[in-house]
Amino acid sequence: MSGEFDLIRRYFSAHSLSRSDVELGIGDDCAIVMPPPNTRIAISTDSLVAGTHFLATADPAWVAHKALVANLSDLAAMGAKPAWVSLALTLPDNNSTWLRQFSDAFFQLADHYQLQLIGGDTTQGPLSISLTVQGFLPLEQALCRHQAQVGDDIYVTGCLGDSRAGLELILTPPEQTSETTHWLEKRHYFTTPRVEIGQALLGYAHAAIDISDGLVADLGHILTRSQVGAELDVTLLPISSQLQQWLGDETLARQYALTSGEEYELCFTLPAHQKALIPELAKRFNTQITAIGKITAGAKLHLHQKQQPLHWSVTCYQHF
Ligand code: ADP
Ligand code: MG
Repeated sequence: MSGEFDLIRRYFSAHSLSRSDVELGIGDDCAIVMPPPNTRIAISTDSLVAGTHFLATADPAWVAHKALVANLSDLAAMGAKPAWVSLALTLPDNNSTWLRQFSDAFFQLADHYQLQLIGGDTTQGPLSISLTVQGFLPLEQALCRHQAQVGDDIYVTGCLGDSRAGLELILTPPEQTSETTHWLEKRHYFTTPRVEIGQALLGYAHAAIDISDGLVADLGHILTRSQVGAELDVTLLPISSQLQQWLGDETLARQYALTSGEEYELCFTLPAHQKALIPELAKRFNTQITAIGKITAGAKLHLHQKQQPLHWSVTCYQHF
């Protein structure tokens, strides 16, 4: 792309913070980094494509935030501490307004987590953003999907369902907007990666996943990988008053909570004897953490309403 070097310098290399473990950042053929001794590196890549993951007309700050949260949330779900990120950017044109807003929002969030941009690639084509994040894990600990055990309690952070409602409002703008509809739209783009909670769960939680495809689908990955089942009480699902108000129906709100994708909350399993950790973490990180069910023997997910079995057929979000 013409003016590529100027673009990289102007919007990216000039703004990234300098970590002491980065020997060589943007500007050479490769970055050179040095993890602390006795540290393992967790790596994850996520791509966002205009038209599939966001509207090409979406606010560039929202898009930057969403792209980075999707990646940070994967580190959070392993219990890893963010360190480095690379950015592969495909742009239809050199739009300075878009780039400025994108890069400002990108660094605002990256800096908050001490995440240094160490390299990337810039090409011309249909708008898409691909990030690779790397973070640190101690030698013996990680929050994997395959370690849930029968008897574990299942928890989720935050509230569920808002992201799907926000997406519906973005795709089909309401005739009358309100504080509630604005709040829900923002909840779709400005989710919070639970990075600190993930790290605090290391050594305590058995299994964890971030909710990107919907609770039922993502908890399903834990169950499959751990070869266990689960019981969820849908009346325990944490639902915001805004979602409840917008949908005007409690049953529907619970179904949203079960299926809403791109929530970037954590779902984790914890042995019952570690219960006391939860109120402590909720207080320390000022975040709601809710017990929603239990890991069981067998391979199925059963939904209950109080003690009554439910037979809802819920479908989670899939890009294809
Ligand atoms: P090469 O031709 O060796 O791949 P590039 O011209 O693609 O190098 O990139 C030059 C430098 O700028 C490299 O250090 C690369 O990592 C970095 N870079 C390119 N695009 C971006 C971007 N969007 N964000 C951050 N760094 C970038
Ligand atoms: Mg290149």
